[in-house]
Amino acid sequence: MTYRFYFTIDCDWVPGSQVGLEMLLDCCDRYGIRGTIFLAGRFAEAYPDLVRTCLQQGHQLGTHGWAHGGLEDDEDFRTAPYEQQRQWIRRATDAVEKAAGVRPVVFRAPNLWISETTLRVLEEEGYHYDSSVPARRFDMGLGRVHYLKYFRAPRDPYRPSRTNLNRSGDSSILEVPPSSCLFPVNLATLRTIGRFTFQRMIQWIGRTSRHLVFYCHPSEFVLPHEQQFPQAMSKWNQRGMGPENLPLVEDLFNHVLSNDYLPMRMTDTATRQLDLRPPIILRAGSFQPDRTYREEG
Ligand SMILES: [Zn+2]
Repeated sequence: MTYRFYFTIDCDWVPGSQVGLEMLLDCCDRYGIRGTIFLAGRFAEAYPDLVRTCLQQGHQLGTHGWAHGGLEDDEDFRTAPYEQQRQWIRRATDAVEKAAGVRPVVFRAPNLWISETTLRVLEEEGYHYDSSVPARRFDMGLGRVHYLKYFRAPRDPYRPSRTNLNRSGDSSILEVPPSSCLFPVNLATLRTIGRFTFQRMIQWIGRTSRHLVFYCHPSEFVLPHEQQFPQAMSKWNQRGMGPENLPLVEDLFNHVLSNDYLPMRMTDTATRQLDLRPPIILRAGSFQPDRTYREEG
């Protein structure tokens, strides 16, 4: 059994980051990587042509909240009531479907802030996959996961219990946890610890898991003054953003491809392993090829 590499992109509602997404799409194309792209609904609504390009290049489309990233008070799926969560997820789902003609079935919670309420809404809204439970992760005050609630959750794909995301159960949602080794396997960590230490981190995770879920944000490849960040975002967070991060991703691709990792989209692995029905539903009727690309930011 080969190792599985899931390249995932969290596309927040940060006007300006569409440039970073185009760079990532080009990079994936050069390496033959097909990944999963989680889109904030407002981003999908503003850049429908780009969302369609993601699909045409073979990537899987998911949702990532409605306006996450561009608000002072971010969407918090840990605490928001059921109706509010349903509204955010519905609006985002509709926006992606309208842009690309495909109804998304994969979700990632903004900031990986998730709850059992979210699981319930996802089931009801026809989702099949989630990738939000921060198993084995604790940022020690540096990132956004500084609670231990889900630290001991399974690190490999599992069906959670409807009453406790930490445990296996009979949910219709398959959880594919973003990989972590205290710190997350994402671009922020890669930027901070450097490629060689990051490769050792991957090696360490590979001893106990054959699934490697990496994520990055398009905004990390665009210079800060070319984007619009929420006022609440600190200048510290904006440091280190720019096109010079692309070689780090290329280096990661080279590393995983030469170490027996097979690039996969979220749904590729589970359909075979767990006998799920194909989750993508094409709706050609809602495909709108004449929508124009709206410049923002
Ligand atoms: Zn995000």
